[in-house]
Amino acid sequence: MIDVKAIREDFPVYQNQPNMIYLDSAASALKVKSAIHQVDNYYQTLGVNVHRGAYDLAYETTMLFEGAREKVAQFIHAIPEEIVFTRGATSALNMVAHAYMNILSEGDEIITSELEHHSSVLPWMMVAKHTKAKLIYVPLTKEGRITEEGFLSVLTKKTKVVALTHVSNVMGYLTPIKAIAKHAHKVNAVVVLDGAQSVPHMRVDVKDLDIDYLAFSGHKMFGPSGVGVLYGKKHLLDQLEPFEYGGEMVDQVTKDSATWKEAPMRLEAGTPVISGAIGLAAAMDYITQLGFENIHAHTHQMHQYTLKKLKQLEGITIYNPTAENPVICFNVDGVHPHDIATMLDQHKVSVRAGHHCAQLVSQFLGVTSTLRASFHIYNDMHDADTFIESVKEARDFFLGF
Ligand code: PMP
Repeated sequence: MIDVKAIREDFPVYQNQPNMIYLDSAASALKVKSAIHQVDNYYQTLGVNVHRGAYDLAYETTMLFEGAREKVAQFIHAIPEEIVFTRGATSALNMVAHAYMNILSEGDEIITSELEHHSSVLPWMMVAKHTKAKLIYVPLTKEGRITEEGFLSVLTKKTKVVALTHVSNVMGYLTPIKAIAKHAHKVNAVVVLDGAQSVPHMRVDVKDLDIDYLAFSGHKMFGPSGVGVLYGKKHLLDQLEPFEYGGEMVDQVTKDSATWKEAPMRLEAGTPVISGAIGLAAAMDYITQLGFENIHAHTHQMHQYTLKKLKQLEGITIYNPTAENPVICFNVDGVHPHDIATMLDQHKVSVRAGHHCAQLVSQFLGVTSTLRASFHIYNDMHDADTFIESVKEARDFFLGF
């Protein structure tokens, strides 16, 4: 069971902002003390580069950094050689797409969806433009879900890449990716999964799902910003053309040519995100100690409680009442979401208003923007009640209920 009072002791921001009602974890989760300490510790006691020096501090730093890689690998059931540290999910997804600029050609098909975050669809849109491959969208259900049936209706022998979100950052729907990956592999397509919203909330086992690539970010799972992960099956990463060239990724250099090291080094040119990786590993330790079952039990309860109360308010449209992830996407009918979000802020309630970097979702819903409230382990019933009261007050103010 999650004890929110104790949990908040682990998140130092609450000491400075004791009245904060933070309902924007889908944008970025709050940062856990142990991760902050690890980042601080690196800068205070080490501060040197990895892999290069023959001296003690370099050795110690390398051990910490490579230890972080091992921890990330364990967290998603991969091997360390399959873990590339990146700047975030966006960089990871772009890294894969960039390599496929030289692999795909005219007539090839890339399957994606309208549920994607811009980071998951735009790189492939650019690949399609460059290679003349076709970008194909999975037809969503009326509710806005990706289903196995919808996927099968667009899968063909020409499908080379399947680029989908695991959990939508706007709708909170879970994609049936295991079944989809099975079908995709029958036509030899690779599956690129955007796990930015799933990895912080559920056990994502890359072997069990049998996906080819997975991208996620540290800052959405209580870790530092500026670090993310690209997982890829080892044989695929070993062939992936690097996005960046430079130090540490090279094997042999002559005046005219060069060869690259094996993965993951070939994809980590230059000085890597040392402190970020170490901080992310600490955040993963924290999640492991809490356990995903406990995290889910708590966030699910918060989610369902808030949803029930919000449904009782007149004049509110909820777009995703069946979401698996603790995300509520809604609007106050006839009022711009930014006006509502600004009023909620007066009660220190932080929600997101806009298109949430997923304009195709707004277009699917037939609106320009929505409000999004998202929950995590540090939220409690008081947060939920204050949120509901604030929405009610804002609705009454704008609509004169
Ligand atoms: N995909 C999804 C589903 C996301 O929610 C986000 C972050 N909003 C990203 C990708 C991009 O992550 P980042 O900004 O950390 O690179």
